[in-house]
Amino acid sequence: MAQIDPRDRKVKILATVGPASRDPAMLRKLLDAGADAFRINMSHGERDIHGDTIKAIRDLEKETKRPIAILCDLQGPKLRVGTFKDGKAVIRHSGHFTLDRKDEPGDETRVQLPHPELFGILEKGQRLLINDGKIRLRVIRADGNEILTRAEVGGVISDRKGVNVPDAEVPIPALTKKDRTDLAYAMDHGADWIGLSFVQRGEDLAEARRLMGGRGALCAKIEKPGAVNRLAEILELADGVMVARGDLGVELDPQDVPPIQKRIVNAARELGKPVIVATQMLESMIESPAPTRAEVSDVANAVYDGADAVMLSAETAAGEWPEEAVRMMDRIAASVEADPAYAERVHFHQLSAHPTTADALSHACMTIAQTVQTAGIIVFTGSGSTARRVARERPAVPMLVLTPSTATARRTALLWGAHSVTTKDIGSFEEMIAKGKRMALRHGFGKAGAKLIALAGVPFGTPGSTNLLHVVTLQGNELDGHA
Ligand code: PGA
Ligand code: MN
Repeated sequence: MAQIDPRDRKVKILATVGPASRDPAMLRKLLDAGADAFRINMSHGERDIHGDTIKAIRDLEKETKRPIAILCDLQGPKLRVGTFKDGKAVIRHSGHFTLDRKDEPGDETRVQLPHPELFGILEKGQRLLINDGKIRLRVIRADGNEILTRAEVGGVISDRKGVNVPDAEVPIPALTKKDRTDLAYAMDHGADWIGLSFVQRGEDLAEARRLMGGRGALCAKIEKPGAVNRLAEILELADGVMVARGDLGVELDPQDVPPIQKRIVNAARELGKPVIVATQMLESMIESPAPTRAEVSDVANAVYDGADAVMLSAETAAGEWPEEAVRMMDRIAASVEADPAYAERVHFHQLSAHPTTADALSHACMTIAQTVQTAGIIVFTGSGSTARRVARERPAVPMLVLTPSTATARRTALLWGAHSVTTKDIGSFEEMIAKGKRMALRHGFGKAGAKLIALAGVPFGTPGSTNLLHVVTLQGNELDGHA
């Protein structure tokens, strides 16, 4: 088995794949630049293109021996306008603009709104926000076929731009027909994570979970004010969450987003579930090879807050500088994590341990690591649960996750600080320790004389059975043996 060089980084980078990056050579570049996981946005592109992308990522995984997480992000009940004769049109400031049900390409006076649900419910005075709120339309008159608006803020509108209606409750279920087909496709093609958009309440997750049939992990995207209000219930049912600031920042006032972002990150950390901070992180790099100072600061702050992952959207999906964007994120993370004040800041959020052996031992790892200067923590896990409890402590030393499950290894590519390696099933305690030492040496976690903490659940393969903590010393000759 070839060695995967562990990244010298705790926070993970999730890069969205799109026309600018789906070429296998570019995917390789993004991986080398620091991407740990890839997001496939099911809102765009034909399904078969996504199948090809998944295959290309799996090929890359084989080639590099690095487990990669693939997150298939379902569009959800995202409202979008139809298309335009010229691909786009200009809506004049203070001018009139109509949204209707005609299945015809639009122009500067009208466009199709392919969501019949909206025609019955919108009322005079309500807002329609288009393209992340860049265009603001106010309803003058609405009936069953047409919504006539005045543009309070005009601008360029193009094909299938998103529409938010923050003033109205839209009676659309969380999983559309398209989402169900996309979800089945994603599962059949081996997606590790499903991103569920516009979640509003716990029940929205139950349906997706049922359709997933025990495969994959479920990431709830927090992008509606309703989801913020029901955060605890959603977090309880999800495997991870995304702070989806794009839609969240349109549905809410932008200044409300930073405190909510911190609240979501802390709440997810408390439960030991991965949290992704997403959208506009290096937005200007869609066109420019260098980010703004404010963007750099935004990424840095998410890292200081202890988010599990930071995400790139159009920067890598459709931008001109995909590789540079990933590299930039990697550099920002490296700079923050090298800051002597980082360890203190990342623990700013005080966790309360659950009264379980797993948490007692995970916590003990931190004390031991400080007392005896360990080079790292080796976690043996089947389901990944022990790795999540250790990552929850945000340990300063690296974490090597050894698992017989390819699914777990891939899924943990989005988990803070986890360097995962798949191994064969482990039969005995002796075998576990021997394998742990060998892998630690092979993956550069320490040299002869280095001490590491091994953490496992015995008997092996029983989720939630973490009950064994052992301090091992590397001899340096472990690679010669075949234990
Ligand atoms: P999207 O989700 O890119 O699928 O819209 C992320 C967000 O809204 O921030
Ligand atoms: Mn969104």
